Amino acid sequence: MLVATGISKSYPTPGEPLQVLRDVSLRLAAGDSLAIVGPSGAGKSTLLQILGTLDEPTEGTVQLNDVDPFQLEETELARFRNRQIGFIFQDHHLLPQLTVLENVLIPALANGRPSAESKERAADLLQRVGLASRATHLPGELSGGERERVAVARALLNRPSLILADEPTGNLDRRTADAITELLLRLQQDENAILVTVTHSPTLAAAMAKQQTLIDGQLQA
Ligand code: ADP
Ligand code: MG
Repeated sequence: MLVATGISKSYPTPGEPLQVLRDVSLRLAAGDSLAIVGPSGAGKSTLLQILGTLDEPTEGTVQLNDVDPFQLEETELARFRNRQIGFIFQDHHLLPQLTVLENVLIPALANGRPSAESKERAADLLQRVGLASRATHLPGELSGGERERVAVARALLNRPSLILADEPTGNLDRRTADAITELLLRLQQDENAILVTVTHSPTLAAAMAKQQTLIDGQLQA
Protein backbone atom coordinates (compact mmCIF):
# COMPACT_ATOMS: atom_id res chain seq x y z
CA MET A 1 0.00 0.00 0.00
CA LEU A 2 1.32 3.44 -0.99
CA VAL A 3 -0.33 6.38 0.74
CA ALA A 4 0.72 9.97 0.14
CA THR A 5 -1.12 12.61 2.14
CA GLY A 6 -1.07 16.36 1.66
CA ILE A 7 2.26 16.47 -0.17
CA SER A 8 3.55 19.97 -0.85
CA LYS A 9 6.96 20.88 -2.19
CA SER A 10 8.51 24.30 -2.57
CA TYR A 11 12.01 25.40 -3.49
CA PRO A 12 13.55 28.56 -2.09
CA THR A 13 14.34 31.32 -4.60
CA PRO A 14 15.69 34.84 -4.02
CA GLY A 15 12.06 36.02 -4.17
CA GLU A 16 8.91 34.05 -3.37
CA PRO A 17 9.47 30.31 -2.85
CA LEU A 18 8.73 28.26 -5.96
CA GLN A 19 5.69 26.13 -5.10
CA VAL A 20 5.93 22.94 -7.19
CA LEU A 21 3.41 20.62 -5.50
CA ARG A 22 0.31 21.66 -3.55
CA ASP A 23 -1.53 19.27 -1.27
CA VAL A 24 -1.16 16.13 -3.40
CA SER A 25 -2.68 12.94 -2.01
CA LEU A 26 -2.95 9.47 -3.46
CA ARG A 27 -3.57 5.93 -2.30
CA LEU A 28 -2.58 2.83 -4.28
CA ALA A 29 -2.75 -0.86 -3.40
CA ALA A 30 -0.64 -3.81 -4.55
CA GLY A 31 -1.35 -4.51 -8.22
CA ASP A 32 -2.49 -0.93 -8.95
CA SER A 33 -1.00 1.03 -11.83
CA LEU A 34 -1.23 4.81 -12.17
CA ALA A 35 -0.16 7.06 -15.04
CA ILE A 36 0.68 10.65 -14.13
CA VAL A 37 0.43 12.99 -17.11
CA GLY A 38 0.70 16.75 -17.38
CA PRO A 39 2.67 19.56 -18.99
CA SER A 40 6.43 19.88 -18.70
CA GLY A 41 7.40 21.60 -15.47
CA ALA A 42 4.17 20.57 -13.73
CA GLY A 43 6.07 18.75 -10.97
CA LYS A 44 5.69 15.16 -12.18
CA SER A 45 9.33 14.19 -11.64
CA THR A 46 9.35 15.99 -8.30
CA LEU A 47 6.35 13.95 -7.15
CA LEU A 48 7.97 10.72 -8.33
CA GLN A 49 11.19 11.56 -6.48
CA ILE A 50 9.20 12.14 -3.29
CA LEU A 51 7.22 8.89 -3.66
CA GLY A 52 10.59 7.22 -4.26
CA THR A 53 12.01 8.72 -1.04
CA LEU A 54 14.80 10.43 -3.01
CA ASP A 55 13.50 13.87 -2.07
CA GLU A 56 11.62 15.04 1.03
CA PRO A 57 8.33 16.90 0.82
CA THR A 58 8.07 20.36 2.39
CA GLU A 59 4.77 19.23 3.91
CA GLY A 60 2.81 15.99 4.04
CA THR A 61 3.64 12.35 4.54
CA VAL A 62 4.41 9.25 2.51
CA GLN A 63 3.72 5.74 3.76
CA LEU A 64 4.75 2.59 1.94
CA ASN A 65 3.55 -0.63 3.54
CA ASP A 66 2.89 1.24 6.79
CA VAL A 67 6.41 2.68 6.98
CA ASP A 68 7.02 6.43 6.82
CA PRO A 69 10.39 6.41 5.07
CA PHE A 70 11.21 9.99 6.05
CA GLN A 71 11.19 8.93 9.71
CA LEU A 72 14.04 6.48 9.05
CA GLU A 73 17.65 7.44 9.56
CA GLU A 74 19.83 7.61 6.51
CA THR A 75 21.23 4.07 6.26
CA GLU A 76 17.84 2.58 7.16
CA LEU A 77 16.23 4.72 4.48
CA ALA A 78 18.77 3.60 1.89
CA ARG A 79 18.10 -0.05 2.76
CA PHE A 80 14.32 0.50 2.67
CA ARG A 81 14.55 2.18 -0.74
CA ASN A 82 16.80 -0.55 -2.12
CA ARG A 83 14.42 -3.31 -1.03
CA GLN A 84 11.04 -1.71 -1.60
CA ILE A 85 11.39 0.57 -4.61
CA GLY A 86 12.49 -0.02 -8.20
CA PHE A 87 13.27 2.98 -10.42
CA ILE A 88 13.16 3.16 -14.21
CA PHE A 89 14.38 6.37 -15.83
CA GLN A 90 14.17 7.63 -19.37
CA ASP A 91 17.93 7.55 -19.84
CA HIS A 92 18.20 4.12 -18.20
CA HIS A 93 21.39 4.96 -16.17
CA LEU A 94 23.14 1.69 -17.02
CA LEU A 95 26.83 1.48 -16.21
CA PRO A 96 28.65 1.23 -19.55
CA GLN A 97 31.60 -0.84 -18.29
CA LEU A 98 29.40 -3.56 -16.73
CA THR A 99 27.72 -6.36 -18.65
CA VAL A 100 23.95 -6.58 -19.00
CA LEU A 101 23.81 -9.23 -16.25
CA GLU A 102 26.02 -7.17 -13.92
CA ASN A 103 23.85 -4.12 -14.50
CA VAL A 104 20.73 -6.07 -13.52
CA LEU A 105 22.56 -7.20 -10.37
CA ILE A 106 23.39 -3.67 -9.20
CA PRO A 107 20.54 -3.54 -6.63
CA ALA A 108 21.95 -6.74 -5.05
CA LEU A 109 25.37 -5.17 -4.50
CA ALA A 110 24.08 -3.18 -1.53
CA ASN A 111 24.24 -6.44 0.44
CA GLY A 112 27.83 -7.22 -0.59
CA ARG A 113 28.46 -9.78 -3.31
CA PRO A 114 25.32 -10.96 -5.09
CA SER A 115 23.99 -14.26 -3.76
CA ALA A 116 23.33 -17.29 -5.96
CA GLU A 117 19.63 -16.49 -5.53
CA SER A 118 20.11 -12.94 -6.85
CA LYS A 119 22.02 -14.28 -9.85
CA GLU A 120 19.22 -16.72 -10.57
CA ARG A 121 16.66 -13.94 -10.25
CA ALA A 122 18.68 -11.72 -12.61
CA ALA A 123 18.94 -14.49 -15.20
CA ASP A 124 15.21 -15.15 -14.89
CA LEU A 125 14.37 -11.46 -15.36
CA LEU A 126 16.64 -11.23 -18.41
CA GLN A 127 14.76 -14.20 -19.81
CA ARG A 128 11.44 -12.47 -19.14
CA VAL A 129 12.53 -9.24 -20.86
CA GLY A 130 13.81 -11.25 -23.82
CA LEU A 131 17.51 -10.60 -23.32
CA ALA A 132 18.83 -13.91 -22.00
CA SER A 133 21.17 -14.24 -24.95
CA ARG A 134 22.63 -10.74 -24.35
CA ALA A 135 23.64 -11.27 -20.69
CA THR A 136 27.37 -10.88 -21.33
CA HIS A 137 27.06 -7.93 -23.70
CA LEU A 138 27.85 -4.35 -22.73
CA PRO A 139 25.08 -1.70 -22.81
CA GLY A 140 26.85 0.02 -25.72
CA GLU A 141 26.21 -3.09 -27.81
CA LEU A 142 22.43 -2.87 -27.33
CA SER A 143 19.69 -0.79 -28.97
CA GLY A 144 17.85 1.88 -26.99
CA GLY A 145 14.84 -0.37 -26.47
CA GLU A 146 17.04 -3.23 -25.28
CA ARG A 147 18.80 -0.95 -22.82
CA GLU A 148 15.44 0.16 -21.45
CA ARG A 149 14.47 -3.50 -21.01
CA VAL A 150 17.66 -4.05 -19.00
CA ALA A 151 16.63 -1.10 -16.83
CA VAL A 152 13.22 -2.72 -16.30
CA ALA A 153 14.87 -6.00 -15.24
CA ARG A 154 17.23 -4.16 -12.89
CA ALA A 155 14.36 -2.25 -11.26
CA LEU A 156 12.63 -5.54 -10.44
CA LEU A 157 15.62 -7.46 -9.06
CA ASN A 158 14.83 -7.03 -5.37
CA ARG A 159 11.09 -7.69 -5.85
CA PRO A 160 10.13 -4.11 -5.00
CA SER A 161 6.59 -3.41 -3.82
CA LEU A 162 6.69 -0.08 -5.69
CA ILE A 163 7.94 0.50 -9.25
CA LEU A 164 8.45 4.11 -10.33
CA ALA A 165 9.01 4.96 -13.99
CA ASP A 166 9.76 8.49 -15.23
CA GLU A 167 9.01 8.74 -18.95
CA PRO A 168 10.41 5.22 -19.53
CA THR A 169 9.60 5.21 -23.24
CA GLY A 170 10.35 8.88 -23.92
CA ASN A 171 13.35 8.22 -26.17
CA LEU A 172 11.95 5.24 -28.06
CA ASP A 173 10.11 4.82 -31.33
CA ARG A 174 6.43 4.00 -31.11
CA ARG A 175 6.65 0.24 -31.66
CA THR A 176 9.51 -0.22 -29.21
CA ALA A 177 7.70 1.99 -26.70
CA ASP A 178 4.54 -0.11 -26.95
CA ALA A 179 6.52 -3.32 -26.45
CA ILE A 180 8.24 -1.90 -23.34
CA THR A 181 4.89 -0.73 -21.98
CA GLU A 182 3.37 -4.16 -22.42
CA LEU A 183 6.40 -5.77 -20.79
CA LEU A 184 6.40 -3.38 -17.86
CA LEU A 185 2.71 -3.97 -17.15
CA ARG A 186 3.03 -7.73 -17.44
CA LEU A 187 5.93 -7.84 -15.00
CA GLN A 188 4.15 -5.48 -12.61
CA GLN A 189 1.08 -7.73 -12.66
CA ASP A 190 3.17 -10.90 -12.24
CA GLU A 191 4.93 -9.37 -9.24
CA ASN A 192 1.76 -7.75 -7.83
CA ALA A 193 3.68 -4.49 -7.39
CA ILE A 194 2.38 -0.93 -7.44
CA LEU A 195 3.39 0.92 -10.61
CA VAL A 196 3.48 4.70 -10.95
CA THR A 197 4.52 5.97 -14.39
CA VAL A 198 5.09 9.53 -15.52
CA THR A 199 4.51 9.77 -19.25
CA HIS A 200 3.75 12.00 -22.18
CA SER A 201 2.52 9.03 -24.19
CA PRO A 202 -1.28 8.66 -24.41
CA THR A 203 -0.77 4.97 -25.27
CA LEU A 204 1.32 4.30 -22.18
CA ALA A 205 -1.07 6.29 -19.98
CA ALA A 206 -4.11 4.44 -21.32
CA ALA A 207 -2.48 1.09 -20.60
CA MET A 208 -2.36 1.86 -16.86
CA ALA A 209 -5.38 1.06 -14.69
CA LYS A 210 -5.64 4.68 -13.47
CA GLN A 211 -4.72 8.05 -14.96
CA GLN A 212 -4.31 11.38 -13.22
CA THR A 213 -3.15 14.79 -14.47
CA LEU A 214 -0.79 17.04 -12.57
CA ILE A 215 -1.56 20.71 -13.25
CA ASP A 216 -0.28 23.67 -11.24
CA GLY A 217 1.11 21.29 -8.64
CA GLN A 218 -2.24 19.61 -8.05
CA LEU A 219 -3.34 16.12 -8.97
CA GLN A 220 -6.63 16.07 -10.88
CA ALA A 221 -8.77 13.03 -11.56
P1 ADP B 1 8.10 17.77 -14.72
O1 ADP B 1 8.76 16.46 -14.41
O2 ADP B 1 6.61 17.73 -14.59
O3 ADP B 1 8.49 18.31 -16.05
P2 ADP B 1 9.70 18.76 -12.52
O4 ADP B 1 9.15 18.04 -11.34
O5 ADP B 1 10.98 18.29 -13.07
O6 ADP B 1 8.57 18.86 -13.65
O7 ADP B 1 9.89 20.31 -12.14
C1 ADP B 1 8.82 21.10 -11.63
C2 ADP B 1 9.31 22.50 -11.34
O8 ADP B 1 10.21 22.47 -10.22
C3 ADP B 1 10.10 23.15 -12.47
O9 ADP B 1 9.74 24.51 -12.54
C4 ADP B 1 11.54 22.98 -12.05
O10 ADP B 1 12.34 24.00 -12.58
C5 ADP B 1 11.45 23.06 -10.54
N1 ADP B 1 12.51 22.30 -9.86
C6 ADP B 1 12.72 20.98 -9.93
N2 ADP B 1 13.76 20.60 -9.15
C7 ADP B 1 14.23 21.74 -8.58
C8 ADP B 1 15.29 22.04 -7.65
N3 ADP B 1 16.07 21.08 -7.15
N4 ADP B 1 15.46 23.33 -7.30
C9 ADP B 1 14.65 24.30 -7.77
N5 ADP B 1 13.63 24.09 -8.62
C10 ADP B 1 13.43 22.84 -9.03
MG1 MG C 1 10.05 15.27 -15.50
